[in-house]
Amino acid sequence: MKILVTGGAGFIGSAVIRYIINNTKDSVVNIDKLTYAGNLESLTEIENNERYVFERADICDSEAMVGIFAKYQPDAVMHLAAESHVDRSITGPAAFIETNIIGTYVLLETARTYWNQLDETRKKAFRFHHISTDEVYGDLPHPDECAEGAVLPLFTEKTAYSPSSPYSSSKASSDHLVRAWSRTYGLPTLITNCSNNYGPYHFPEKLIPLVILSALAGKPLPVYGNGEQIRDWLFVEDHASALYKVVSEGKIGETYNIGGHNERRNIDVVKTICKILDEVVNEKPAGIRQFEELITYVTDRPGHDRRYAIDASKIQEDLGWVPEETFESGIRKTVVWYLNNQRWWQRILDKSYADTNRLEGGE
Ligand code: NAD
Repeated sequence: MKILVTGGAGFIGSAVIRYIINNTKDSVVNIDKLTYAGNLESLTEIENNERYVFERADICDSEAMVGIFAKYQPDAVMHLAAESHVDRSITGPAAFIETNIIGTYVLLETARTYWNQLDETRKKAFRFHHISTDEVYGDLPHPDECAEGAVLPLFTEKTAYSPSSPYSSSKASSDHLVRAWSRTYGLPTLITNCSNNYGPYHFPEKLIPLVILSALAGKPLPVYGNGEQIRDWLFVEDHASALYKVVSEGKIGETYNIGGHNERRNIDVVKTICKILDEVVNEKPAGIRQFEELITYVTDRPGHDRRYAIDASKIQEDLGWVPEETFESGIRKTVVWYLNNQRWWQRILDKSYADTNRLEGGE
């Protein structure tokens, strides 16, 4: 199968491409605009593989998309390209509307025209997989608001959409477009909604890498609000294997929620990272005995969702997918990866990409 992956130079897209090239016989065409979040150095491990090719292009550019579909004749699309950082969506929503909504529309129209002219066999096999987030569902009751011992609800594939931020509402819009193109035009689509990812090659503005790198530099670790926000963390390589399972075996027209059954309060995530760093870093930054001493609490983000948690039973029962990593094993791997891969993140920091003043509580 030839898979066209959009956003393949990003955090999750690069994990998906490494997974496909290393674990399957499929080939990949990576389409990426290389925004601040795109980094081809996340793909050095597979960049010379004959089953991999890169095209720098903007998914909003209809002419470029038509040309790429005609040139490579893909069997499937995995659409990950997006503006993905919640804080950036609050200060500058325009790029989110442009890429996440208009870009998805352009890609759907390009795919529809291309799919319509395929012969019957290829037409039947074609699939358009849209990769989305659990943030489209809004937030869930927090244990603080519930009676002791109450069963806390989870997001299922049937949960009504109720996005809170410009980011999540632009992703919700794109999900609606994908469903409409399936229902109205019969385009064979699949949608996945996943919880927060973490792992190697994560851009340093996001919570987990930001905590690791700020701690190593002896900088404050400012936590939004009281740090009680709960996220359901999934190791990025588990997400990549789930996405491949869905694109290759998922039932057309279906939605699958993907999660790691790893609900953690942000403050506990930060403390866990500090404890691992205490163990593995010999020389602490000046003035501290333990990394936790760097934690500081700052004013909360507007509209900050309090709890996300995924019910991933459908993908488990229908496709047999389960995550391999627990939060404890995955977070340790992640910390060790950042310690061993300074070249990758130092080059990003040197370009002053990361805003190290804030910790991010969403994606
Ligand atoms: P990312 O920001 O790391 O990567 C996005 C990639 O898309 C970058 O390589 C960027 O250059 C590219 N891109 C942006 N605009 C583009 C455009 N107009 N044309 C072509 N390429 C463009 O994001 P990520 O964390 O890897 O997320 C990938 C997808 O997964 C997104 O759709 C996101 O909504 C979804 N998702 C992310 C998470 C998470 O925790 N990170 C969780 C669930 C779902």
